[in-house]
Amino acid sequence: MTLDLDKLVRPEIAALEPYRSARGEAPDPSGFLLLDANENPYPDRLQGKGDALNRYPEPQPRRLKARLARFYGLAEEGLLITRGSDEGIDLLLRAFCRPGEDAVITCPPTFGIYAVAAQIQGAALVEVPLDQDCQLDIAAITAAAEKTSTKLIFICSPNNPTGNDMEHTGILRLAADLPQTLIIVDEAYIEFSGSPSLAARIAGQPNLVVLRTLSKAFGLAGVRCGSVLAGPEIIAILRRVLAPYPVPTPVADAACEAVGPAGLARMAYEVEQLSAARDQMIGALGGVADVQKIFPSSANFLLVRFADSDAVCQRLKARGILVRDLSAKLPGCLRLSLGTAQENELLLQALGIDSAPAVCSRRAKRTRTTNETSIFAAVDLDRPAAAVVDTGIAFFDHMLEQLGKHGGFALTLKAEGDLQVDPHHTIEDCAILLGETLREALGSKAGIARYGFTVAMDEARAQAIIDLSGRAYCRFEGQFDGPSVGGMPTELVPHVFRSLADSLGAAIHIRLDGDNDHHKVEASFKALGRALRMAIRRDGGEIPSTKGQL
Ligand SMILES: *Cc1c(COP(=O)(O)O)cnc(C)c1O
Repeated sequence: MTLDLDKLVRPEIAALEPYRSARGEAPDPSGFLLLDANENPYPDRLQGKGDALNRYPEPQPRRLKARLARFYGLAEEGLLITRGSDEGIDLLLRAFCRPGEDAVITCPPTFGIYAVAAQIQGAALVEVPLDQDCQLDIAAITAAAEKTSTKLIFICSPNNPTGNDMEHTGILRLAADLPQTLIIVDEAYIEFSGSPSLAARIAGQPNLVVLRTLSKAFGLAGVRCGSVLAGPEIIAILRRVLAPYPVPTPVADAACEAVGPAGLARMAYEVEQLSAARDQMIGALGGVADVQKIFPSSANFLLVRFADSDAVCQRLKARGILVRDLSAKLPGCLRLSLGTAQENELLLQALGIDSAPAVCSRRAKRTRTTNETSIFAAVDLDRPAAAVVDTGIAFFDHMLEQLGKHGGFALTLKAEGDLQVDPHHTIEDCAILLGETLREALGSKAGIARYGFTVAMDEARAQAIIDLSGRAYCRFEGQFDGPSVGGMPTELVPHVFRSLADSLGAAIHIRLDGDNDHHKVEASFKALGRALRMAIRRDGGEIPSTKGQL
């Protein structure tokens, strides 16, 4: 039996003549005189940040939709942009559940919004609790679904608040055994999990629906942007219920940036940091006498059972720390969201773990977006690691990798620039952002001493001297024979050092000679990396300047 949507959808919704917004599905309206929607014709609100805010937004912004579809790995017809997953949940209830007649199944302990949305719609709520391992009780869910007119089954994976992934075999079996029921998998935390998304299975399983959001891993809870992923017919039904203009223009702009190349690199970087924090916290909490159980987590939070959760809650509150108290439903349990390294440290201290404060790693991450480039950079000065660099200019990548390697610091840099115009903007902006990021990571502890290094590469010789003085100065002595090396214009080589000096706040002196341009450029980046390595080395806790600040 396959999915019969005509039977699943509420008859009122099937019969509805949907509202058509002025420009609804019209072709791209740019180029037209827009006298069709009673808008105010005068643009430029919000100090120039919102040129087009006098216009209604696209109901489903094309550029954002294309990027989301690419990231989620399905066709655009299979995606609906909503005001957070919360709206996606509400739309599903309103489109499919007849008040007083239909039911939804949830599997507690789980996300509370499913039950609230069901109650608001007047749908019956059938609860089939998770088993002892916090997994789905597939047999019980199937039995419950067959007993009532069950339209929707909500599954959260990784599950909030338990944190674990649900086994995909069970979910897919449910979907196969209950072909006239929508199996909705809420993957709000999937980016933190090693598990693949079930979105890839929608094509072969038409009653599968997946919810994704930018609220958690992408750090955009304030933007309210989620997606419903499903077969195109289901999406078409939800569109009938969706508000005419659900995605405000500033939301679309912020979301678009978040799922662009630099945004994705930032997300991956932060997910990695939070996952590492999760492992550290599990280790540290294991040493707390009060802790009875730490539930396995694939998300950015930990469910922890304490001997006396009330006392723990009070103690944390007294220290100004809020955690989620779930003890009403899960005795003794608190849900702890992972914070920054410092925040996690404060939480542990409040829980009575007297670990000497971890030596704070000198890290920074920054994003830079202009009309020409979009770049994400992150450095960790206290962790040597292979550089992860992708600017679209292979030779420049190689040079930045040299800088990271010889500088002895971890460097992540992802850029998307207007290379079709020229590599100039991308190379320049990468240098600026890298300098800013290094400067931020250095904080107040910049070394003032002058460090220098000379590198020989066959016949070529490069000398780099750096002074992290807080004052920008660049001196470059050298000549190149050709106009470019590996696609990088040689005239940009001194330009990179100047941009770096400016944004880092450093004096950088480079002197180069030799015969081969490739050798000369590479030697100069290596030499600068080596000089930087000495300059950023941590040397006691004092600011190395008689001025007391840099
Ligand atoms: C946080 C969370 C969401 C996100 O909802 P948004 O409306 O997209 O912010 C969805 N589902 C679960 C289980 C969550 O914990």
